[in-house]
Amino acid sequence: MSKEAMYYLKKDNDVVQCVLCPHGCVISPGNKGICRVRLNDNGILKSINYGLCTALAIDPIEKKPLFDFFPGSSILSVGTFGCNLKCSFCQNWEIAHGEDPAKQEITPKELADLAEKHKGNDNIGIAYTYSEPLMWYEFVLEACKEIKKKELKNVLVSNGYINEEPLKELIPFLDAANIDIKAFNQAFYPKMCKGKLNPVLKTVEILAGQCHVEVTTLVIPKENDALEEIEELAKWLKSISPSISLHLTRYFPNYQLNLPPTPIKSLEKAREAAMKHLTKVYLGNVP
Ligand code: SF4
Repeated sequence: MSKEAMYYLKKDNDVVQCVLCPHGCVISPGNKGICRVRLNDNGILKSINYGLCTALAIDPIEKKPLFDFFPGSSILSVGTFGCNLKCSFCQNWEIAHGEDPAKQEITPKELADLAEKHKGNDNIGIAYTYSEPLMWYEFVLEACKEIKKKELKNVLVSNGYINEEPLKELIPFLDAANIDIKAFNQAFYPKMCKGKLNPVLKTVEILAGQCHVEVTTLVIPKENDALEEIEELAKWLKSISPSISLHLTRYFPNYQLNLPPTPIKSLEKAREAAMKHLTKVYLGNVP
């Protein structure tokens, strides 16, 4: 399934520029952007993962992770493939970067109907998660609108790497988001994720005033676990919203990064550092 993409500019000779995310890929005919899910089809930019689903399951809301948004409830969770960051430590790389991992086709209306069908099982709505939902923008926007017609909730679990204009178009339909801040460190993003930190911080700032927001940082030994850095992150989050929740999760070797797992002691120290500024700091991926 594919659909004409939103947010792109037409250039000479059928070249297009995608302006969905800060990469701003200039794409010649027959080629895809960095995310590998937006294709220049003879001068028309297409979303090639539209309606293609790699995973669909009912999860506890805490698994997103969201600990302070309808605790104890369930949420129908859906994902596609493709991602605009290339994190060497990706914990979902099979679906984010794998070759054609899609399993089933679904329309936004069918997805919303399914969410409604499970309302009786404590299901509060849909979480767009697993890979990068912002690279599924057209589908997610339409599904969010369908979900709102049913008075259910929309939850976004994302790397936050999107331009302001498309983000602002999506926000009126969002109820909650968990955004990854992969490190509070300008050098980390280009080195480890092939992106930049500032657009992610901007996304958190914009969302925090508009819907419930929690933030996740995967703590990687020696790469982003300096206590001063964690404390700076917590201080910055407090300046955005004192009640924001921070999840510090444990890294395990995956994809291209083969460091030993984060020691539990380091996570505990990181939590102490963050608690100097925030009241809700949770550890994740720990027993
Ligand atoms: S969404 Fe994809 S194609 Fe568009 S700018 Fe970002 S990485 Fe490039």
